[in-house]
Amino acid sequence: MATIAPSPRPASGQPVDPAVATIAVAHGDGIGPEIMDATLRILEAAGARIHCLPLELGEAVYRAGHSAGITDAGWETIARADAILKAPITTPLGSGYKSLNVTLRKTLGLFANVRPTRAYAPFVPTLHPVLDVVIVRENEEDLYAGIEHRQTEEVYQCLKLVSRPGCERIVRHAFEYARANGRRKVTCLTKSNIMKLTDGLFQQVFAEIGREYPDIAQDHMIIDIGAARLAARPQDFDVVVTSNLYGDIVSDIVAEVAGSVGLGASANIGTRSAMFEAIHGSAPDIAGQGIANPSGLLLAAVMMLVHLGQGEAAARVHNAWLKTVEDGVHPADIFRAGQSAERAGTEAFADAVIARLGQQPRQLEPVSYANAPAPRLVASQAPAPAARADKTLVGIDVFVDALDSPDALAARLQAAVGSLVPLAMITNRGVKVWPAGHAETLCTDHWRCRFQTPSGKAFNPAMVVELLRRLAAAGIPFIKTEHLYLFGGEPGFSLGQGQ
Ligand code: NAD
Repeated sequence: MATIAPSPRPASGQPVDPAVATIAVAHGDGIGPEIMDATLRILEAAGARIHCLPLELGEAVYRAGHSAGITDAGWETIARADAILKAPITTPLGSGYKSLNVTLRKTLGLFANVRPTRAYAPFVPTLHPVLDVVIVRENEEDLYAGIEHRQTEEVYQCLKLVSRPGCERIVRHAFEYARANGRRKVTCLTKSNIMKLTDGLFQQVFAEIGREYPDIAQDHMIIDIGAARLAARPQDFDVVVTSNLYGDIVSDIVAEVAGSVGLGASANIGTRSAMFEAIHGSAPDIAGQGIANPSGLLLAAVMMLVHLGQGEAAARVHNAWLKTVEDGVHPADIFRAGQSAERAGTEAFADAVIARLGQQPRQLEPVSYANAPAPRLVASQAPAPAARADKTLVGIDVFVDALDSPDALAARLQAAVGSLVPLAMITNRGVKVWPAGHAETLCTDHWRCRFQTPSGKAFNPAMVVELLRRLAAAGIPFIKTEHLYLFGGEPGFSLGQGQ
């Protein structure tokens, strides 16, 4: 049964059929309403047990003065739903508007972005006919924390935040996904050779949690060669787990080399909510023409049905879709004269899928979700709190805005601070420039001045305050500080390059 048309939930006190999932449906902007209508028609015909609540998001909401693109009523709708099915939206240009996608992911704790990509050769042209890769991307942390500052005339900063619980739950989700979906290998991509603390933590957690999954092959690659290999030899990969920015980039690379960006779907999974969407945007250039390909959103809806435990309906839709593609019924974006049998508009394509419900593809591999466990059970596992190591303050990095030479700045700092704590090093953009810097190093107006106690000697917050008081008294414009801690005796800070 399906109650696809928007209708109110039963009044409180009335029983809700537990077999029917409540879905918050955002029709979005541009081609969004066209592809959403087509998708919902197919779900209804396939017998999906869903009840839809309309969810207002996007351009009209932004323009009505809601800078996040969603209203309080929208949040209430989401709170009543088991999942969100979202068509693409148009984000108005201008700094006054926050990305709705990032807001939804972070507010709802949708920590895992799961994006499966397959090639559909020979029916959709592709560089790699056997490509079948799932990118599991961390969705909340990393450079997407959105904490940016302009600190001096010349220097801007974006904070990369990586947490152990964040790494643990995305890595575990990747392994659980692999196990639940019969995948054989998980590859971790990081830049741990450069970002030894942040990306190093991600790699370390991957190795730790990987030990609990001896049945799954596992390897680690540096992101640059990993991305290149994904483009050149995607058949060597199965499930990939990586952090937010790298995942954003490599998931588009994989979709592009599969030849099917318009067919791409993604799931954003959290502990309580889940949101499913196509990977493409609102395509304003073709909006209203009835030619948009609804496949990305439809395959996202398939993932949603699996997530909701409606594997049978999911497989009916997915196999009918595969058969439609195999039969050469192709929307304009994948239509090839001489190869495709029919150029189908959005509605005609949906009709073709509906006509094939109950059929299986012959050449493309049929799917089955009969025994797929609902991934939300996986997501509900909260990471165990980590044991807390001894934490010892041993110094402070004071960032200073100045136009001095390194030697002149060092002399000013030492004169101001006196014998309180030694100046150990100055770096500029991370490179050591004092003591013994190189004349070739480009220096900006942004200096990291490291004050550090000789080993074994204690440093304390009162000394931090006194140090800053002396710098202020000497008129040295400090712009931020970072404390230097040892955790269980191990440095919790990086060395300067060249130190
Ligand atoms: P886009 O993905 O909308 O379009 C890129 C190209 O692909 C266009 O030529 C378009 O016609 C085509 N295309 C995209 N989807 C298609 C489909 N289903 N069928 C046929 N052709 C399709 O990317 P863009 O033009 O960079 O972005 C347009 C708007 O979408 C922007 O406002 C952007 O911010 C927004 N956007 C939203 C999301 C989202 O809501 N998840 C994601 C990406 C972009």
